Amino acid sequence: MPEKMSRRKLLASASQAIAAGGLSAYAASAPSPAVAPRSTKGMDYYEKLGVVPFINAAGTYTILTASTMPEEVQSAVALAARKPVHLMELHEAAGQYLAQKLHCGGALVTSGAAAGLTLGTAACITLGNKDAIVRIPTDMSELKNEVIVQKAHRYEYDHAMRNCGVKVVEVETMEQYGNAFNDKTVMTNFFNAVDAPISREDWIRVAHQHGVPCFNDAAADVPPISNLWNYTQMGFDLVAFSGGKGMRGPQCAGLLLGRKDLIEAARLNNSPNSNAVGRGLKVAKEEIVGMVAAVDWFLKQDDAAMETEFHKRAQRIADLVAKVPTVQTKIFIPPIANHVPHLVINYDSQRIRTTGLEVMQKLREGKPRIELNPATGGGPASAGLPSSPDTIVVGVWMLQPGEDVIVGRRLREVLQAALQ
Ligand SMILES: *Cc1c(COP(=O)(O)O)cnc(C)c1O
Repeated sequence: MPEKMSRRKLLASASQAIAAGGLSAYAASAPSPAVAPRSTKGMDYYEKLGVVPFINAAGTYTILTASTMPEEVQSAVALAARKPVHLMELHEAAGQYLAQKLHCGGALVTSGAAAGLTLGTAACITLGNKDAIVRIPTDMSELKNEVIVQKAHRYEYDHAMRNCGVKVVEVETMEQYGNAFNDKTVMTNFFNAVDAPISREDWIRVAHQHGVPCFNDAAADVPPISNLWNYTQMGFDLVAFSGGKGMRGPQCAGLLLGRKDLIEAARLNNSPNSNAVGRGLKVAKEEIVGMVAAVDWFLKQDDAAMETEFHKRAQRIADLVAKVPTVQTKIFIPPIANHVPHLVINYDSQRIRTTGLEVMQKLREGKPRIELNPATGGGPASAGLPSSPDTIVVGVWMLQPGEDVIVGRRLREVLQAALQ
């Protein structure tokens, strides 16, 4: 588990094309020079604060500020920021719109997938018992407080459930699973991106036999776009996504989708209600509108076109670095989370005398700064990416037009310099 926990630590949201708008962003694949961020009115506070942005060759990692919003999402946020509205009216209208678009009973814009996990857990505890909202997490007497999880699905985000005063009950086999239910069982959680002995279908079926709702944490699991409804339609009662990862909404946004009654219960545990576990999980009008606009943007994309474009970017970088002796490249698509083409670079470390971590550091310190995928050099790999001391992993999906060539040239330069 410690290994998985550290892997998850870096798994989060990342950054893509400020300049990109709509499908054309992915279809326009000419290796043009890097596009300067569009001029906007106002002070550049990164410059003022001396914080230097980088080229995101990593992916959608929270610590790297996740994704950047496409232009049309940025515009929607900027417009929304200008006028006050009633927060609950906005929450409800956004929820109805999203539930309809994403083919589920109910939807709530949350401050992220982790917030979705907290609010979903709170919803299961307090469904039909509003008095319980105030008691979470310090007065759990007489409240259901056990969540069943497969051992392989334990992760650091368990804390988001434990915020509600629950304890996690681990199971490994179907037999243990069936026996784990009792009158304290309030929910089960499934970590969507990681293989575990009990399948999604069995997981849902047994829980429902016991009348217990199933949560699915699918935070990083789009594309494919259809995952936004695949898991709710499969029978998961609650499904959480990060807004700032593949959907490229605001980083402090996410989706909680699922059964209407549970979503309604989640809403009651959320900000702006003050005496509730979710008060600190506030989303403002900017995040709510940004999340809805990001969903609209994302639904207009095309899985095949995105994959083709990411593949082309990876190939352009591969063609540049493959000129260095012993360098080998392959294009790799992780199975579930971050399910997009990544470039994996290997080399003979007897000939190229440097480690992946050293390469990563050189790129980080260069001009422009470049961040490689954290699986590079045997670092904490994210969900299924190859990782070893002499492996370099390039996440291409958050690159802006033209940046692939910059990354490829810089990598070639650094590897060439280490060649003996
Ligand atoms: C990124 C991630 C989260 C957290 O998502 P936020 O939107 O940052 O709250 C939770 N679970 C998994 C599996 C993730 O990958």
